[in-house]
Amino acid sequence: MSKLPHIGTSIFTIMSKMATEYNAINLSQGFPNFPVDERLTDIVARLAKENVHQYLPMSGHPPLLSKIAAFIKNSYERIIQPETELLITAGATQAIFTTITALVETNDEVLILDPSYDCYEAPVLLSNANPVRVSLNDDYTPNWDRIEKACNSKTKMIIINNPHNPTGKILNKSDFEILESLLEKYSKIIVLSDEVYEYITFEQKHISAHSREKLLNRCVMVSSFGKSFHVTGWKVGYLVAPEHLMKEIKKVHQFLVFSVNSICQVAISEYLDLVSVNEIGNFYQKKRNYFRQLLKNSRFELMPCEGTYFQVASYASISDKNDVDFCKWLITDHGVAAIPISTFYADGKDLKLIRFCFAKDNATLEAAAKRLCAIQ
Ligand code: PMP
Ligand code: GLN
Repeated sequence: MSKLPHIGTSIFTIMSKMATEYNAINLSQGFPNFPVDERLTDIVARLAKENVHQYLPMSGHPPLLSKIAAFIKNSYERIIQPETELLITAGATQAIFTTITALVETNDEVLILDPSYDCYEAPVLLSNANPVRVSLNDDYTPNWDRIEKACNSKTKMIIINNPHNPTGKILNKSDFEILESLLEKYSKIIVLSDEVYEYITFEQKHISAHSREKLLNRCVMVSSFGKSFHVTGWKVGYLVAPEHLMKEIKKVHQFLVFSVNSICQVAISEYLDLVSVNEIGNFYQKKRNYFRQLLKNSRFELMPCEGTYFQVASYASISDKNDVDFCKWLITDHGVAAIPISTFYADGKDLKLIRFCFAKDNATLEAAAKRLCAIQ
């Protein structure tokens, strides 16, 4: 008996493990391999000797809450009440799990747009609700006709991920306008907006759910310091929700984690006095450009990348293997690990596409590109 019979081990675990076994360059699971800012590690080293080792308040370290509220105001002109609308979570994964568990009821339907990141479906199933997968268009923009057709009186939530993992696509103003007019027809639907890469966008500015007046009262916005400060292993994120939703979310949060790692919260809070979350976009834009330049003479066709630290590439001119087998072959025969895009689709659609993570130091990107360019 299994509560999640169709859920296996995450593809990120599988590919990273295989990369280690074969000593391959790991561009699969999304995490940076360069050192964290020394100013941040110095803060942690100092804090380790101070009295910051006990439980913090359930919602989060109060100075950190205030600083998040300040940069949300600065980035999106949204004023939030830190005491009632903000919650520090153990990464975005826990924020998403907690939100779904708290708000989605038996037999509700939750719209998930494919290809989609992998952590949305399990909490829906564990809530005895039904995930409804709706494919994005071929260019990864939302197909609003299909989304509208999927809405009905049982629809409780729509999950959007912007900037989008794995495709690097970002939503535009008209997407939000259509979403908002759809929500006017369906008053029960709540939006869960996964914006963990909110500060990693390039040519176009990110439009956050925070900046959409009509969404504020029915949207839970999720973010993660793992992405913004290169500390994915710290698992510190946050969610913003209107008070009536937050009340329910906190009921679950207090019994799932109660409060999040104290040293990391205090360290991030102090670090926010030294840096700005807005610096990260430029940093990754240079990485993206460099990685694309390095692959220019390869036989991979690179898809557009508007945000995130992922580059999707087609290998259709190299092989007709399915993408899972192609990724395995890439590791065993060429020493580079990537993620097969079919694993982001409920129906495992194989489009001969794979995802590379370019959050790596230049030497790693150069070594990987050399191997990838050698594939004929
Ligand atoms: N959402 C998306 C789209 C992600 O890519 C990730 C992971 N990188 C998460 C959520 C989870 O973030 P965290 O590691 O902070 O739990
Ligand atoms: N978000 C990371 C990625 O997309 C994976 C994190 C994880 O392994 N859970 O690669």
